[in-house]
Amino acid sequence: MKIAITGGKGGTGKSMVSTSLAVEFARKEKTALVDADVECPNNHLLLGIKRKKYITVHQMIPKWDFDKCTRCGKCADVCKQDAIVFVKGKYPAFVKDLCIGCKACLVCCPQNAITETKKEIGIIYTGKNYNVNLISGELKIGELASGEVVSEVRKHSNKISKEIEAEIILVDSAAGVGCPVIASLIGNDYIVAVTEPTPSALHDLKRVLYLADHFGIKAGIIINKFDLAKDFYLEIEKFAKKENISIIGKIPYRKDFVDSTIKMKPVVEINSEYKKIFEEIVNRIKSEKP
Ligand code: SF4
Ligand code: SF4
Repeated sequence: MKIAITGGKGGTGKSMVSTSLAVEFARKEKTALVDADVECPNNHLLLGIKRKKYITVHQMIPKWDFDKCTRCGKCADVCKQDAIVFVKGKYPAFVKDLCIGCKACLVCCPQNAITETKKEIGIIYTGKNYNVNLISGELKIGELASGEVVSEVRKHSNKISKEIEAEIILVDSAAGVGCPVIASLIGNDYIVAVTEPTPSALHDLKRVLYLADHFGIKAGIIINKFDLAKDFYLEIEKFAKKENISIIGKIPYRKDFVDSTIKMKPVVEINSEYKKIFEEIVNRIKSEKP
């Protein structure tokens, strides 16, 4: 079973939920956890894992042959990233850091003056602790193509999960509803949408659940820190009821979250109250299984 953990707004506790679920699933099943939040991966910190490099991720970038180039400027016209600067009568200038490797310039050049080369944009790491097999992607600082790194993480995590015969694959996605999130949601059997009782979190939750519906993936909601704003928590309950989406867990806020980060230990290993809550969430997900 492949489960994505998402939620829209950043800081709602997706990584805490992902690592806690992974530890609880791993007590009974072979479990892989994929950290697809490639701009800010932190699952390894919460699980106390020292990651090992698995593979380097490259992205295509164009290379110009100025012997063939007629200085027509078409490549600059098609580049939506403004990575090609063209001044009439001059050869195009390339701004490597802005290129996302879409290949539009290659396709449009009438002189075949552009060929492919590559640059390093990220690294995929692996590691293991608490019986959780972690596959973690990390975008290189300053690079833009996070969707590309997420796709590579997904590809390699599929391979690794097959090798270790993982029964449960959890995917911790980035915040928001952009390219990297969409790339990490596709192909999952179930979506866990993590939210908190605030207006902005509810707004983003609705967008994530819209995506889940669009891809035809069943979803359940976890309300983190539900006891910090009970009135707004009721708003989320009302919304979930109206949309017929299950609330599969409610997590109270305790100082243990801070301890978990400081001690680099999952919260379910620190406080038995959380262990019980996540055991129940695991059972709930299994019963909700599509
Ligand atoms: S499209 Fe081709 S020929 Fe035209 S400026 Fe670009 S590289 Fe040169
Ligand atoms: S590959 Fe795409 S983003 Fe990169 S320079 Fe060419 S058109 Fe621009």
